[in-house]
Amino acid sequence: MKYYSTNGKAAITSFKEAVFKGLPDDNGLYMPEYIPKLPDSFFENLPSLSLPEIGLNVMKPFIGDEIPDETLFNILSETLSFKIPLVSVSDNIFALELFHGPTFAFKDVGARFLARSLSYFSQKQHEKLTVLVATSGDTGSAVAQGFYDVPNIDVVILYPSGKISRFQEQQMTTLGKNITALEIDGTFDDCQRLVKQAFLDTELSEKAKLTSANSINIARMLPQSIYYFHAISQLATETVEELTISVPSGNYGNLTAGLIAQRMGLPIHHFLACSNVNSTVPDYLESADYNARSSIQTISNAMDVGDPSNFVRMLDLFGNSHQKMSESISGYSYSDEETRDTIKKVYSDNNYVLDPHGAVGYLGLKQYLQNHSGTGIFLETAHPYKFKESVEPEIEASLTPVLTFEDLDSKSIPFENDFNKLKEYLLR
Ligand SMILES: *Cc1c(COP(=O)(O)O)cnc(C)c1O
Repeated sequence: MKYYSTNGKAAITSFKEAVFKGLPDDNGLYMPEYIPKLPDSFFENLPSLSLPEIGLNVMKPFIGDEIPDETLFNILSETLSFKIPLVSVSDNIFALELFHGPTFAFKDVGARFLARSLSYFSQKQHEKLTVLVATSGDTGSAVAQGFYDVPNIDVVILYPSGKISRFQEQQMTTLGKNITALEIDGTFDDCQRLVKQAFLDTELSEKAKLTSANSINIARMLPQSIYYFHAISQLATETVEELTISVPSGNYGNLTAGLIAQRMGLPIHHFLACSNVNSTVPDYLESADYNARSSIQTISNAMDVGDPSNFVRMLDLFGNSHQKMSESISGYSYSDEETRDTIKKVYSDNNYVLDPHGAVGYLGLKQYLQNHSGTGIFLETAHPYKFKESVEPEIEASLTPVLTFEDLDSKSIPFENDFNKLKEYLLR
């Protein structure tokens, strides 16, 4: 498989080059040259396949012979070593729980796959790399845990000071070793801008051997397609009719991966793009105008993104047609108050604890299914305990802790929102 840039000016590359570069030179995003259709035999066997077996079938066509099958299967077995259950919430609504990994959010899947593929390639060519990443919360912790102690790779994480939860901060600032966290005096969009600028600075990106681990890296995004197949493999065949999948979204990597799974032949009838008040994409679906804006802070903070990076991939998949995109995807946007009310209501009605991100996805699905028949799955992207400050007051109960870091020291470094300072730091 070859990879091209959505801007069409950068050279076509291999999977390995796309993974190493992260971002093409023309500032687009890498996309696979075509989306392979999986054979009928795979879909017939789907219910009997394990998660890593599904993973091998899904990823193999995208990687070709660049990673030997046996190594790829090992990478996938390590990446997907936790369960991703489909849990019934009400009659026709299911939650795909993506939060049973080490950092209790779906980003573990992409981060662990990327770490292990990068490590495979870098060990082969004896080269030390620096992974540079901006985070609004969960990316940083997943990347930090995914790369921790991986040989030949240093990780530098930029996060907005005071804008992520204490739990998220602890997960990425207490590790040390090859993981450095820079606490930027600015917003998530500032962090993302600094990272983009670093990659576009040829001197810096070559000397520091920079690579990206954001959802813009193709090795972060593609493996997220795997769990859409796994979700459907857990549904009884008769319920697969008219299936709608609701994706609580920020940078839209997860939704893009779902669209790719659909193009590979997975019978998904419709997608919902659900956001908090950062509604750039739902507004685009409604109006055909794309208006990037500054992000607004919400309780579903991993989705506080005003200019989603994977939107260009979505456009690319629909040949830049607003009409085609809006036929396949409906957008919804919700306030914090609606999100909180939903956490309360679903707990009292269905005895299910939503996190604020999952609640946004649930809300969209509930609204869509009022006028449409069929089955709905929403992605539960984070463990509610990660956002217990928002969840516990609504359910009026204490959640069982999943992890504590009380005794660990933060090793984060306070840092100015200044590209030249960052460049100096990375070249030190
Ligand atoms: C990152 C994240 C999202 C948004 O995912 P995208 O792929 O960026 O759209 C949603 N929920 C949680 C918990 C996240 O960490």
